Amino acid sequence: MFVVNPSKMMRGVILAAARSDAIRSAVVAAPGTRGIVRRFVAGQELPEAVRVAGELVGRGLYVSLDHLGEDTATRSDAEAMRDSCVAALTALATSGLTRRAEISVKLSSLGQALGPDGNKLATANAWKICEAAAQLGTTVTLDMEDHTTTDATLEALRELRTAYPWVGAVLQAYLHRTLTDVRELSGPDSRVRLCKGAYREPASVAIQDPAEVDRNYVRCLRVLMEGQGRPMVATHDPRLIAIAGRLASVAGRADGQFEYQMLHGVRPDEQLRLAESGATVRVYVPFGNQWYPYLMRRLAERPANVAFFARAVLTRS
Ligand SMILES: Cc1cc2nc3c(=O)[nH]c(=O)nc-3n(C[C@H](O)[C@H](O)[C@H](O)COP(=O)(O)OP(=O)(O)OC[C@H]3O[C@@H](n4cnc5c(N)ncnc54)[C@H](O)[C@@H]3O)c2cc1C
Repeated sequence: MFVVNPSKMMRGVILAAARSDAIRSAVVAAPGTRGIVRRFVAGQELPEAVRVAGELVGRGLYVSLDHLGEDTATRSDAEAMRDSCVAALTALATSGLTRRAEISVKLSSLGQALGPDGNKLATANAWKICEAAAQLGTTVTLDMEDHTTTDATLEALRELRTAYPWVGAVLQAYLHRTLTDVRELSGPDSRVRLCKGAYREPASVAIQDPAEVDRNYVRCLRVLMEGQGRPMVATHDPRLIAIAGRLASVAGRADGQFEYQMLHGVRPDEQLRLAESGATVRVYVPFGNQWYPYLMRRLAERPANVAFFARAVLTRS
């Protein structure tokens, strides 16, 4: 029997609608937008983001700072993003935060989609960012985008790891391929962030049933916990967080040998609770003015946010 899952359907509707220019203008102009952006995004400028990172570190948390941007359309924009990432690393170092704060980058913001040599360009830009991170004593994680970029991003990861073995990977439990990727990336010191996956993907490449995504998450997490790398458990899902703790203890991992990761503005009390219990918890802190696609993915994740989205579209200011 065909069963409609309303929250999954709504998620697809929001992610599809978010691509329309008219809807983008309506959301950007809507009266409630500023408040909701403030909840998920640490600020438009770097100093605000570094201040938020400092506050989180002061509360015992770790941070991955993300300068928002994706699908860069020109080489000079890609280079500007590279320089902004280096500036973010420098600012974290100046504030004495690099022991607990790294950065996350999207290869599409570094030029990955710019023609046949885009991935080379993005890898070269990421290389410079990693060079700076190494000098400043911190790390970099490569965010994972939609499935058309997975192979290229993993190729870039492999190349970067030849010089910087600490570069973090992201794998998405909703992709059919991920269990295989997880097995390949669970070797010594391999930092792997496992998330459910935030993009709208077809059934040919991605599991469509949310309960089955959760089961695949657990399968993948078990491999990571039993492996020799550093699992980074990126979820707010209470069941998966509880399962992660159990899998870690069965695998004989101490608190510092894996980490939980959550998004800025999502379940902040749970972030603190886990940190106070002795776990390592890293908060993903986005900043910058290109917040629209990021915000749309966050809204799509939660049926409760749909009301905001509908109001934004229906009541232009
Ligand atoms: C640190 C981090 C990095 C990530 N990096 C990537 C990446 O590189 N590529 C990628 O595709 N995806 C990434 N994601 C997003 C991820 O794939 C999921 O889309 C997102 O985390 C929601 O899934 P969930 O595991 O929290 O579970 P869900 O089942 O979506 O949520 C579980 C519970 O968490 C709470 N919650 C979840 N999301 C929200 C929200 N937006 N607002 C309010 N409450 C919420 C709710 O209580 C919900 O019931 C990342 C997520 C995290 C935490």
